[in-house]
Amino acid sequence: DVPDVGVPTFLLDHPAAGPDATAVIDGPSGRAVTYAELRRDVARCAGGLHRRGLRPGDVLAIVAPNCPEWLVACYGAMTAGVVVSGINPLYTAEEIAGQLRDGGARAVVTIPPFLPLVRAAVAAQDRPVEIVVIGDPDGEVAFTEVLADGAAVALPPGLVDPATDLALLPYSSGTTGLAKGVMLTHRAMTTNVAQMHAALDVTPDDRAMAVAPFFHAVGLSVVAGVTLRSGGTMVTLPRFDLEDYLGLIQAHRITVSVVVPPIVLAMARHPVVDRYDLSSLRLVGCGAAPLSADLQQECARRVGCPVGQGYGMTEAVATITLFDPAVPVVPGSSGLLLGGVEARIVDPGSGTDLGVGETGELWVRGPQLMAGYLGNAGATAATIDVDGWLHTGDLARFDADGNLFVDDRLKELIKVKGLQVAPAEVEAVLRTHPAVADAAVIPVADERAGERPKAVVVAAGEVEAAELVAHVAGRVAPHKRITEVAFVDAIPVSPSGKILRRLLVAQERAGALPAADRS
Ligand code: ATP
Ligand code: MG
Repeated sequence: DVPDVGVPTFLLDHPAAGPDATAVIDGPSGRAVTYAELRRDVARCAGGLHRRGLRPGDVLAIVAPNCPEWLVACYGAMTAGVVVSGINPLYTAEEIAGQLRDGGARAVVTIPPFLPLVRAAVAAQDRPVEIVVIGDPDGEVAFTEVLADGAAVALPPGLVDPATDLALLPYSSGTTGLAKGVMLTHRAMTTNVAQMHAALDVTPDDRAMAVAPFFHAVGLSVVAGVTLRSGGTMVTLPRFDLEDYLGLIQAHRITVSVVVPPIVLAMARHPVVDRYDLSSLRLVGCGAAPLSADLQQECARRVGCPVGQGYGMTEAVATITLFDPAVPVVPGSSGLLLGGVEARIVDPGSGTDLGVGETGELWVRGPQLMAGYLGNAGATAATIDVDGWLHTGDLARFDADGNLFVDDRLKELIKVKGLQVAPAEVEAVLRTHPAVADAAVIPVADERAGERPKAVVVAAGEVEAAELVAHVAGRVAPHKRITEVAFVDAIPVSPSGKILRRLLVAQERAGALPAADRS
């Protein structure tokens, strides 16, 4: 049971959030913001946005990397009943324009380097969109001006009904297709943070690293949500750079870091990791994409603390299952269902329920699910059925202790002679080879088999394709064997840590991924 308050009050106004305690530190500059200052600025921002005409239900977009002002703008808007929509700052002007249009944004908060892009995106809207700039406003409205304007504003009471009003309009990562706007109420968000907070043991003494982007569920709801609700401190990093990240862990004696699989890979394998003192870390959490047991354990040995996994999706605010920090990590598992969440494993063909240990589509039901996709009742109905079960589209199983193991997405399975291959499994096998720095597996058309798996590999040294083919062949069933390898410089991943296999498939179809004999 969560209190009947909006997201900002839930996260910032509670006994664990001591007024003089540091809430957020801007990583690059070291500037610290206390809980009292954050609450004050959030209130000012709410007043300033209200005074500028933003009303409950209006949408405010944020196109900026992680920084303390991201959170001030976000919780300020939510306090005024305004719905927040974070946009990937790596998007092109056209992609930003698309999300502004789809969400119907009335204003957008950004930083000077993104102004040209944001101006182009705003010019492509058929309605006025106000631009607010954190830093030199260059003729637009300054964020500091919004805060100053809001200092004297008393908001009318009863602006937000937490049970029904939307707080956030995030977009799904667009891994499998077009990103969809996900409608999340204040209650869904506070519930999911409360569920995670109950499952974890984060305290006011913890210092967390905010490296996952705030526009995504992992950054905003897991890292910022849980840290603030716990009264802890978070250090923001504008973009992932391994040495910046490691340097900040060392400098701020970071205790908790929630990351995505590509960061786990870097922490496990990159030589520079040994040059940093990471002894303050007590917990690393990972989610958002498949992470193999091998890599999970390799990373834990390297950083000297447990690496646990969680599973979730934007449609469930952030999290559905989490590892239990009180017991030894179960390698390869995404953890246990959060309190109040029900799950089924359903056979995708027949629709019948499967038992413990059997693999099928994961369906979930719980209090943190979305209100629906924005303007897309068809997609909503195809995802959440009439009984409230969300069909996740992920292939998974539970063990007898309730630990969830996620294989991969149903949509991305490779169909070989009527059998299915989860690319993540073959990728994990490839990564166990010492000459493989990173790998992705994609389907290629095959006359006899229909499809067969092809490996796309970043080599860590000189290696023959035939050696990798043999490495995989010795470790998997025949239908999962790769028959060809393309060597590339980098595997495309989203900022939320997902391998963008559809980009590789497009390259393959365009003939841009030739099979090679050696790297
Ligand atoms: P889109 O729905 O637009 O294609 P997306 O599904 O990648 O994008 P998100 O909501 O960010 O967007 O991601 C949710 C998905 O991430 C899950 O459905 C699942 O496929 C994957 N995922 C999350 N956590 C894990 C995990 N622990 N193990 C494996 N996969 C995970
Ligand atoms: Mg999805």
